[in-house]
Amino acid sequence: MDDAMTALPLVFDAPRRTQPPRHLADLTREEARTAVTELGQPAFRADQLARHFYAGVTDPAQMTDLPAAVRGELTEAMLPGLLTPVRHQSADGGRTRKTLWRLHDGALVESVLMRYPERATVCISSQAGCGMACPFCATGQSGLTRNLSAAEIIGQAVAAAAAMANGEIPGGPGRLSNVVFMGMGEPLANYNRVRKTLDALLTPAPHGLGLAQRSVTVSTVGVVPAIRRLTEEGLNVTLAVSLHAPDDELRDTLVPINTRWKVGEVLAAADDFARRTGRRYSVEYALIRDVNDQPFRADLLGKLLAPRLAHVNLIPLNPTPGSPWDASPLPAQREFVARLRAAGVPTTVRDTRGSDIDGACGQLAAADQVDGVPSIAVPLPEGVPAGAEEGVGLGAESDQG
Ligand code: SAH
Repeated sequence: MDDAMTALPLVFDAPRRTQPPRHLADLTREEARTAVTELGQPAFRADQLARHFYAGVTDPAQMTDLPAAVRGELTEAMLPGLLTPVRHQSADGGRTRKTLWRLHDGALVESVLMRYPERATVCISSQAGCGMACPFCATGQSGLTRNLSAAEIIGQAVAAAAAMANGEIPGGPGRLSNVVFMGMGEPLANYNRVRKTLDALLTPAPHGLGLAQRSVTVSTVGVVPAIRRLTEEGLNVTLAVSLHAPDDELRDTLVPINTRWKVGEVLAAADDFARRTGRRYSVEYALIRDVNDQPFRADLLGKLLAPRLAHVNLIPLNPTPGSPWDASPLPAQREFVARLRAAGVPTTVRDTRGSDIDGACGQLAAADQVDGVPSIAVPLPEGVPAGAEEGVGLGAESDQG
């Protein structure tokens, strides 16, 4: 292992930068009603605005239930545009669409909408950049720019729901069914805003997106106190733990937060979460050639997880710029899968290049909860021409078998 690859410090506290203007989605329903009253409007206008926001309506002219004279002012004050699309990139015949968003301060984040026959999933970002410094992840190597506000996170899901409803994705109008926090950032390092986002995703329409708890996946490097808080707060969302190594020695280098909370502590916290929700958590494991893909590590992982309410989601590594690492070759992947299954651990493989490993397709289709993409989103500096990041985009699943 190259020491230079692990030199970045862990950053939990986001740099203090200007947060975006206040938005209705940052507020509780009561706070929004108060804010509208302070603007000299009756409180129920907050509910009308919420209905438009969650329905993806952004043009004040379409908000015909608001008096024409105050539409502009109310929208500006309560629904400021926080996410400007810079570009869309499509794959899989348009059924996978990645959007690059520019935020009010020029920061860039990405989200990816993936449509399958039975569901539509959006992968959203919770931070601009990331402070967790995982050496194989391009976002981790870029460092943390800032936390996203709740409205900036929620806005990505609302935009995806609107794109589905408006028939922007081939297959006719449809419904957004799943959200995964697997874009840029560590969601549990931005807990309060992610917590607000979960409320917005789970609250029934018209005051939220009305998603089912199990259809929302929070993916974490293993911020143990935050996993415990999620457990205590009784949120029955799906949990994914980015493990990437079964042993502390290797995980200390691949997922630097392991120097603070060890494999055993992370899994114990995830176990408690699973006991509360009654559902398996997902263990994410990027297979890196000759780094973490050895048969003995598969056996170690199998032994570790067999008694637990967990399944493994293997991700062939997406190579990132400047990284010396590569995805495991197919035979090593197959061997790894076989050993985990032999140990009794449910295992799926997420193919990031659209070509399948034998046998993985059916498994993935059966494992409906396993639906995220690894984000290796690269924030582009301002002024970089469109398309310059070609080839380092997010990997798409290919599990519609
Ligand atoms: N910070 C959170 C969520 C974002 S990353 C987390 O780490 O869980 C979503 C998943 O993609 C994580 O499991 C992450 O480890 C994985 N990932 C990051 N870079 C990758 C790469 N280059 N190849 C494959 N998976 C990667």
